[in-house]
Amino acid sequence: GFIAFEGGDGAGKTTQLTLLESWFRERSLPYERTREPGGTPIGERIRSLVLEHGQGEVDPRTEALLFAASRAAHVVQRIEPALEAGRFVLCDRYVDSSVAYQGVGRQLGAEAVAEVNAFATGGLQPDLTVVLDIEPAAARARREGRDGDSDRIESAEDAFHERLRAAFLARAEADPQRYLVLQAADAPESIQAEIRVRVQELLSP
Ligand code: C5P
Ligand code: MG
Repeated sequence: GFIAFEGGDGAGKTTQLTLLESWFRERSLPYERTREPGGTPIGERIRSLVLEHGQGEVDPRTEALLFAASRAAHVVQRIEPALEAGRFVLCDRYVDSSVAYQGVGRQLGAEAVAEVNAFATGGLQPDLTVVLDIEPAAARARREGRDGDSDRIESAEDAFHERLRAAFLARAEADPQRYLVLQAADAPESIQAEIRVRVQELLSP
């Protein structure tokens, strides 16, 4: 099973991943937790390369291709081997983030970015994509006072985040079987409970 977590900055992906990780551990289910951009030595170098630049300093095509390259390495070196070995993969961001941030946020076009990523991933899709949906103002309040590794996007205006939000929701609406959209403003424990119900279904369909 391949489970991806998506949503804007401050939606609570990390918190939910950590809670789900403990559920896997308690059940002795084999899993790997990973993230994008990153997840492999090359991917982590690409991540630092892009994120060390300020907002808007890397042109959007370059950024989209570098993140897609990071993802290609991630799929081949990490995600597919884990799945083949019967381990679950819990991934912080995947293709939807590229479509939202570079395709819609940075206006390269959702279609173009989806195509580049279909090539990068060889078409590998998660079995479940959890989208944590949050209003930009609420997400901004959460981001304030936390210490992220980059503020290049996090400091962008609410209108940018509103576009990202719409992009995540549009992707989810197009494939409701694979997506689980949850309200990130809800209590973390109740969000987690809904996630666990869906993951349980993946385990025993
Ligand atoms: O999710 P994470 O905090 O690890 O992302 C690091 C930074 O990269 C954030 O500022 C996020 O908004 C940005 N990002 C991006 N395009 C992506 C994925 C992440 O601009 N496709
Ligand atoms: Mg972040």
